[in-house]
Amino acid sequence: MKIKARFFCAVLSAIILMTGCSSGSSSQKDISSPDSSQGGYVDVSETQEKIEKEAKREVSDTVEINDRRRGLLDSGYNFNGSEFMIWQTDEKKKIDLATGHISSFCDITGCAHDENTSKGCLEFQPMNSPVMTKDGCYYTLYTQGDCKKLFYRSGGEDRAVFENTYFSDLDAKLEPDHKGAFGYMFRDGVLYIMGQNWFYTVDAKTMKQTSEPVLIGDSPMWYADVSGEHFYMTNENYELWHYDMKTHKLIKLDDKAVRLQATSDGVYYNKYLGERKWTLYRRDLDGQSEKQLIENVGVDFFVTDKSIYCTKEDGAYIFDKASGEIKKINLELTYENGEKYTAKDPMYLTFVSCPSSQYVYVPDCSNVTGEKCYNALFRIKKDTADYDAISLGIYYQPEGQNGSIISY
Ligand SMILES: [Zn+2]
Repeated sequence: MKIKARFFCAVLSAIILMTGCSSGSSSQKDISSPDSSQGGYVDVSETQEKIEKEAKREVSDTVEINDRRRGLLDSGYNFNGSEFMIWQTDEKKKIDLATGHISSFCDITGCAHDENTSKGCLEFQPMNSPVMTKDGCYYTLYTQGDCKKLFYRSGGEDRAVFENTYFSDLDAKLEPDHKGAFGYMFRDGVLYIMGQNWFYTVDAKTMKQTSEPVLIGDSPMWYADVSGEHFYMTNENYELWHYDMKTHKLIKLDDKAVRLQATSDGVYYNKYLGERKWTLYRRDLDGQSEKQLIENVGVDFFVTDKSIYCTKEDGAYIFDKASGEIKKINLELTYENGEKYTAKDPMYLTFVSCPSSQYVYVPDCSNVTGEKCYNALFRIKKDTADYDAISLGIYYQPEGQNGSIISY
C-alpha cells in the first residue's frame, strides 16, 4: 500500500483524508527476486516457458481472484476464498478463514518474520498491490528498474509475468522517475493495466496485450471497475467516466464521484457532498438513468446481486435493492480480555468480498487504544445481516516500533 501510495502520491493525502486509513512507516529495502540474475532486471523471455506451462493453472486461479481491487489504493486487504490477507503497514499476514489461524505471508523456511533480525523476510519487503490466487500472489514493485513489471509469486518463486512499456504525458509529469509504473485488476480472465489516466487490456492466460491504451480525462485515476464491455473510472477531479470497450465511446457521466463498483446490473458510486457525507447513486450499465439510493453514507460500500452493504455514522448497514429498506448490522464482539469491540469510526469501515464468495468481510484495525490496536474481522453472510467474527487479534504497537499481530 505504501509503495502504491507513492506512485499515486498526488492523491494520497486526499485518500487518507477521505478514508481515514493510516500508512505505516516506509521501508526502503529492495526485493531480490530469484529471477533477477541480470543486474536486478528480470528477463521475461527466460520465464516464458514457465509462464506457458503454468498458464492453465493460473487461469483457473483468476476465477477466484479477489474482485475487491476496484480502488487503486485499496491494496490493504485481499482474499482468495480460503485465506484473508492483511497487507498493511510493514506486515503481511494471512488469516485462514476456516480456522482463524493467523500466519505470515512469508514462506521462507525457518524465518522468524522479524523485521530487524530476519534478513530478506517477505513480510517486510516493499511488494505492493497484492492480488491473491489459490496458491500464489500477484504484486508490483516500485523500484525504478522493476516498476513496469507485474510479478507472480508461487511455491517460493518470484517471476515477472508482464511488463508495461506504455506511459502517458500525465504519468511522465507526475512520476518522471517511474514511467511505466501501473495499477492493475483482473476481471473474467482479463488483466486491466491502468496508469494515471489510461488503461488497456491483457489476456490473463497468455499475458499478451489485447487492446491499445485508452486515454481518459487528464487527472489521476482513483477507482476503476468493469462489467462486461463497460469500463468505469473516477479520478482526482471527482469525474465519473464510462468507456464502452465495444463501441469505443467515451463519456464523462458525472462530477463529485469518488468510489465505484460495477455489477451485472449497473454501476454504483458515491458522491462526496461535503462534511464527511457521501450519497450513493446508481446508473444503468450504459451510464444512463441516474438514481439516488442512500443518503449520508460512509466512504465504502459493496454491492451484491440483491443488497448493498454500506456504513452510516453509527455502523454498518444492509440495503435491500428490491424494497429499498435499510437495516443496521450490529457488529458486536468481546475480546478475550473482556473488552468489547467498538468501531472507532464506523463511517470508514471497509467491505471486502467478491462474486464467488458467500460472505462479505469487514476488517477493522482502527480501534487504537493507547499502545494497542484491537483488530476484528467479521464475516457477514451475503444478502443477510447475520455475521460471526472469524478471527481477531491485538496489534501491539509500542511507540516508534513495528508491532505484530498476535492470534488467539
Ligand atoms: Zn519471514
